[in-house]
Amino acid sequence: MRVLFISSEIYPFAKSGGLGDVAASLPKALLEYSEVKSIMPLYGSIDLQKHNIKSTQFFFNFLVNEENYYFELFQNENTLFLKDFNNLFNRDQMYGDYDDNDLRFGIFCYGVMEYMKQSGEKYEILHINDWQSALVAILAKEHYFLSSKIVFTIHNLAYQGIFSKESIKKLDLKWDYFTPAVLEYHDNINLLKGAIALSDVVTTVSPSYAQEIQSAKFGCSLELFIQENAYKTVGILNGIDYDEFSPQKDRYLTFKYNGEDLSFKAKNKKTLLSDLFLQNDRLPLFVFIGRFTSQKGIDQLLNSLENLQYLPLNIAILGSGEEHYNIALASISHKYENVSITIGYDEALARRMYASADFLYMPSLYEPCGLNQMIAMKYGTVPIVREVGGLKDSVDDFTHSSPFDDKKGVGITFDDDSPSTLVGSTQRALELFHQKDRLKDLISHNMRVDFSWRHQAKEYQKLYEKLDSGWLPERMIKEFEIPLRYNADTLKTIAVNPKTIYTYWEVTPHLVSKYHTSYEALKLRAYANEDLLFEVDLYHGEGDYYFYEEIDFKKVWTQIGFYTFEGEFVSVLTSNYFIAPNSKVIHSDQIVWRNISTFTQTNKRFLLKDEIFYRMEERFSSGMLTKRGSMFEKSFLSRNDSSTLLHTKEEK
Ligand code: ADP
Repeated sequence: MRVLFISSEIYPFAKSGGLGDVAASLPKALLEYSEVKSIMPLYGSIDLQKHNIKSTQFFFNFLVNEENYYFELFQNENTLFLKDFNNLFNRDQMYGDYDDNDLRFGIFCYGVMEYMKQSGEKYEILHINDWQSALVAILAKEHYFLSSKIVFTIHNLAYQGIFSKESIKKLDLKWDYFTPAVLEYHDNINLLKGAIALSDVVTTVSPSYAQEIQSAKFGCSLELFIQENAYKTVGILNGIDYDEFSPQKDRYLTFKYNGEDLSFKAKNKKTLLSDLFLQNDRLPLFVFIGRFTSQKGIDQLLNSLENLQYLPLNIAILGSGEEHYNIALASISHKYENVSITIGYDEALARRMYASADFLYMPSLYEPCGLNQMIAMKYGTVPIVREVGGLKDSVDDFTHSSPFDDKKGVGITFDDDSPSTLVGSTQRALELFHQKDRLKDLISHNMRVDFSWRHQAKEYQKLYEKLDSGWLPERMIKEFEIPLRYNADTLKTIAVNPKTIYTYWEVTPHLVSKYHTSYEALKLRAYANEDLLFEVDLYHGEGDYYFYEEIDFKKVWTQIGFYTFEGEFVSVLTSNYFIAPNSKVIHSDQIVWRNISTFTQTNKRFLLKDEIFYRMEERFSSGMLTKRGSMFEKSFLSRNDSSTLLHTKEEK
């Protein structure tokens, strides 16, 4: 099987964080099972000589929105690089705040497609990562009609690739995708959303994160959309490459060491402290390494320093990120005698810190997987982590498990983001630091736990193989009984009346409020054996609807959609069907309604009820809509009385 792993960064060529590490180590581990190639943009900052990257002399070009894009393919072993001649990647930064980032990464995705098309290379699996390569899902399926299966990995849901809808034109996409079910998001396009919609399987980088992103707290406003797609989403914990991250092999360390003899770890600490102008190597060293963003819990750490400085410890912080954090940290870099702050990205210093430290802080507010804690554990450094995402999946509190779980490391865990909690956790660490035997056991356990890709890569391989053999995840269809008060006779009575659409009995306040300020109107079309029976427009916003028609034992197929504010009818789902023997209904209600609520949640342009009806009326009178359903008419007339509108007598 041939796999193409597509990423905007791959270590050591380019790396901003965990994605770079994973894009290097996962394909490498997969080589044991499949023929894997990786592909990334050739940024101007990449040193061709140092990395032995050579041109393949394969040149190609293609047109997008009447612009000609020129590419040259470079290669280093299994990694391919796309060099562009349109000044897309030759910039100061990989992910700078450029106003053509849609084009930069969109054209990268086209480049990947055209490389395959023009070179004739075929891959059974295209594995795309984060929003930068997300467009591949749409292009492969809808523009290039490839039979390759698409796996999309979300490394961090917070970065979604949101651009103005003008990008549809700039990237020569079809307006058909500008629907809430695919790309549309707050009147913009959201590339990550498009990839979730069109990929065959979505993975996230830890099982806990796969669950968390279905909640409002972690879903970055896509939780409902992710819930809908949960049937094809799986969490696989990342691994790390022990050829790269191992205190025995690390080329950045003066003193290499293993679990047998930690005295060399102490030697590393001594030289590091002196380089960082910190005193007293008998005190425990606490480190923080990472991007300065709120995600990483940098506020909690910053606000704790005032109290931490009085404890018997040293702290070293390394990172860079959002400007206000860079400034805040720079301004206190000389304030505390026992705190060293280095602003910047420095692989060598990071490795020396992992190797020298006693404890690593990772107070992340959310953490899709997190590699730092795994690296730290391999280097005999005890992680202090918030119980969230991948941190939860890889670190147990040392007091919770005895004996320790083979598959997890141990450290100090907490759940709260207050500074006092971090100070409290630090105090626990200080106590542990003095329980030498306990600490030794814990460290040697951590250094033995296998966080390499050995196990996890197999999970990906199994997925690829299943997909390659034709398997696809299936949506679950919920089955439920009609409540007893609706006996077959009642239903038939309702059904013979053309106005047989009434609110479904399980309308919850939760659902109603989601719908209420939401769509303009719903249209429901009922088909039987592919014939349109009738089409009805439903009154705005009264929760869930239930449809029943008097066609015994036949499959009734419905299509539900809504009118956008531009007056287009957008079909939300066409597979919502009812099978109607008298007592049992199979109904994919959740799928339908979540689709609609996704739209409503993400659409901020709420209109007042009256305005909506005014607009609807305008559309009818202008002939934009020709067929007015009876229900709509009724609801329009009695719009001030919405509470009675859709409730049949039987229901009350
Ligand atoms: P992220 O959310 O940034 O992807 P991860 O924990 O998954 O976080 O991966 C972070 C990776 O980046 C680790 O390899 C870590 O050592 C490295 N890293 C983060 N910040 C720095 C820095 N300032 N200097 C060197 N390496 C860094």
